[in-house]
Amino acid sequence: MINSRVDEVYFRDKKIFIKRDDLLDIDFSGNKARKLYYYIKHNFDGIKKIVSRGSIQSNAMYSMSVLSKIKGWEFEYIIDHIPKFLLDNPQGNYKYALENGMKIKYSNEDIDMNKAIFVDEGGRGKEAYFGVEILAQEIVEFAQNIQNMVVVLPSGTGTTALFLQKYLYSYGIKVYTTPCVGDKDYLIAQFNMLEKNSKYHPQILLLDKKYHFGKLYKNNYDIWLEVKNSTNIEFDLLYDPKGWLMVEQYSKFFKDKNILYIHQGGLIGNESMILRYKRKYGY
Ligand SMILES: *Cc1c(COP(=O)(O)O)cnc(C)c1O
Repeated sequence: MINSRVDEVYFRDKKIFIKRDDLLDIDFSGNKARKLYYYIKHNFDGIKKIVSRGSIQSNAMYSMSVLSKIKGWEFEYIIDHIPKFLLDNPQGNYKYALENGMKIKYSNEDIDMNKAIFVDEGGRGKEAYFGVEILAQEIVEFAQNIQNMVVVLPSGTGTTALFLQKYLYSYGIKVYTTPCVGDKDYLIAQFNMLEKNSKYHPQILLLDKKYHFGKLYKNNYDIWLEVKNSTNIEFDLLYDPKGWLMVEQYSKFFKDKNILYIHQGGLIGNESMILRYKRKYGY
């Protein structure tokens, strides 16, 4: 994994820096690559399998399938259920994870944990610090030439934002995030699971409107498209619309700050998201 570059773009006449973690590697990119980097860089003698659980379209699931391929491990993934349309027409993360050899399991009982590593849902957990710290070091290096720089990114589990803030705290760099999965209390609870001291917590900026994770919203697609057209960069359709809505809603607050927006990858997931938006809104 090499240092990802930073691009300079304009969104509504404001200059914004983009940390291009989507370009880290063709197959292994975004924050899931950072979070799983620990497993790439360490040897696990005797391990033959990686086991995880989560949702059937998750970016983490796809990245773990790539990791297992790189390591020569099997990959077993536990889910509650697969929607029928997906079973009949595999697409996006699910399709490519299957191509990488992922085996689906419907219950823990089917799983033999002998010679296996369990990775928490979403690649969260303390191992994620290893790779996110490298991202933070790259950010510190970039920030040397930039006045008043702040880091902005949307959160799921909040692992990436929390570990970034934990490292960047001593450099006086603030991290701003917005919850995409639950509400503010949920995100704070996630932060606390990884770090009790709230001085290391990112600052949460809430959006005016409430959104349910994974649901489709016209304004989410609209801002995604606007960002795509004005920056020439494609972002993820699940989390990033909330990230950009945060930039938009808090534009006064960010006016005198230089934003470094972290592109967290996830573009393979867009394949199925775009199809869903097409079906719902006819885009
Ligand atoms: C997983 C993911 C997130 C959320 O990351 P957390 O560390 O769980 O907060 C955000 N954006 C993209 C594109 C992701 O794949």
